[in-house]
Amino acid sequence: MRPEQTQLLDTLRDRLGPHAVLDAEAVAERAQGIWRPTPLVARALVRPRNTEEVAFVLKACHEMGQPVIPQGGLTGLVHGADTGPDDLILSLERMNQIEEIDREGRTARVQAGVLLQGLQEAVAEEGLSFPLDLGARGSCFLGGNLATNAGGNRVLRYGMARENTLGIEAVLADGTVIDSLYGMVKNNAGFDLKHLFIGSEGTLGVITRAVLRLREAPRSRLSMLLAVPDFPSVTALLRHLDQGLGGQLSAFEVMWPEFYEAVATAPRCPAPPLPLGAPFYVLAELLGADAARDEAWAESVLGDALEAGLVSDAVLASTAARNEALWALRDSVDVLAAGKPTQVFDVSLPIGAMGAYVETVKTAVAKVDSSVKVFTFGHLGDGNLHFVLTPRPREAEGVHALEAAVYDPLPALRGSVSAEHGIGLEKKSWLGHSRSPAEVQLMQTLREALDPRGILNPGKVC
Ligand SMILES: Cc1cc2nc3c(=O)[nH]c(=O)nc-3n(C[C@H](O)[C@H](O)[C@H](O)COP(=O)(O)OP(=O)(O)OC[C@H]3O[C@@H](n4cnc5c(N)ncnc54)[C@H](O)[C@@H]3O)c2cc1C
Repeated sequence: MRPEQTQLLDTLRDRLGPHAVLDAEAVAERAQGIWRPTPLVARALVRPRNTEEVAFVLKACHEMGQPVIPQGGLTGLVHGADTGPDDLILSLERMNQIEEIDREGRTARVQAGVLLQGLQEAVAEEGLSFPLDLGARGSCFLGGNLATNAGGNRVLRYGMARENTLGIEAVLADGTVIDSLYGMVKNNAGFDLKHLFIGSEGTLGVITRAVLRLREAPRSRLSMLLAVPDFPSVTALLRHLDQGLGGQLSAFEVMWPEFYEAVATAPRCPAPPLPLGAPFYVLAELLGADAARDEAWAESVLGDALEAGLVSDAVLASTAARNEALWALRDSVDVLAAGKPTQVFDVSLPIGAMGAYVETVKTAVAKVDSSVKVFTFGHLGDGNLHFVLTPRPREAEGVHALEAAVYDPLPALRGSVSAEHGIGLEKKSWLGHSRSPAEVQLMQTLREALDPRGILNPGKVC
């Protein structure tokens, strides 16, 4: 290390305390992520406890031109928090306080290092709900959720992280604190600056605190697993349920048959809730206020769908255990890999084009390598599809060819190479498939304006 780099770490230790700054050796004792056990690499890792300390760290790094990588729960799926040996990691792990839950205003003020699940549980005790929900809930931080504008299972009804955020506090690269911690739903006093930071993947500022919007906790939950005869019926069913359930539809997930067959068989699932062999499976959810009334309502709406031929078979789950059992199928993505490496995709496109798009992707993948299996599923109600391709090719060329198979049809459909996971490093070379040169240039102009020395998450996104 150069003397000025040693001095930077000494300065940070003096201000934050010796336990707040880990050196490269201590960093290597940590893993790169929840699915990546390889050792973490960095010059140092800093763990501030509050906004003032974050501002101090950034100001010192800005003066030195020291690259800083913000890290949350490390559950991101696009290598957005990856580090190299010269980077300094700014971990939000010690900023983990829920500062206030306002029952009247239905808001929560949190620090960026609070676990998503921690907030969900805390507000549930107050009869409220924070509706953002994803499989990584037990490990991801709210700061990470906002920095990636996370989506998840209930976007159809409640929107993404952005729609559930009322205010943000962020620290710019030079240490300037931007306090936009407002708690109002309506606030048109000039530019709404929080949106600069939401979804910016740690490139425009470090999110330190947020005011989040809460909702009344639903009193009933009913999940439905439905077998559907063809793709036009899937899209017609989405409209039928949305209309028939009067705005209470909270999720509409679709599983292509290869996905359902992999997750609904032994040993993970000894008795499939619906027989294998249907062309499509839909997992829909209704969040309501009266379990008995909702069940009768759902049965009647589904009865109409059966009569119209939109659905060929159905299972309803209203108890907590049966709800969980159905959702466990959708969340069993790990069984698809069967111990082999995978390539995971997250795209969005117009819903009506999805049926044909998936067939195009399958054909293109088979041309690249006919031994690669394609599992398709996703938050179809939000226009969002996921593919798990396995096994992942060993050579970069093979990986690129499969990426091209998935991404190349998207520009003609005005789709996106990233629906909810972000761009990070993994999709940077594909950004031009979804954003025009003028859009990418504007992103770079914003970066240069807010971070003129380019210290925040350099090399990521754009
Ligand atoms: C099992 C599983 C299921 C998942 N399901 C979904 C899903 O349904 N929907 C979905 O959208 N995602 C999903 N994800 C992806 C991931 O959980 C989300 O992207 C999540 O929001 C990342 O949060 P994190 O705290 O782990 O962030 P990290 O992985 O630590 O960081 C992600 C990015 O945000 C930046 N960052 C982190 N904290 C801050 C901060 N405070 N300020 C500025 N930048 C910051 C990092 O630099 C990096 O670029 C899933 C992941 C897993 C493992």
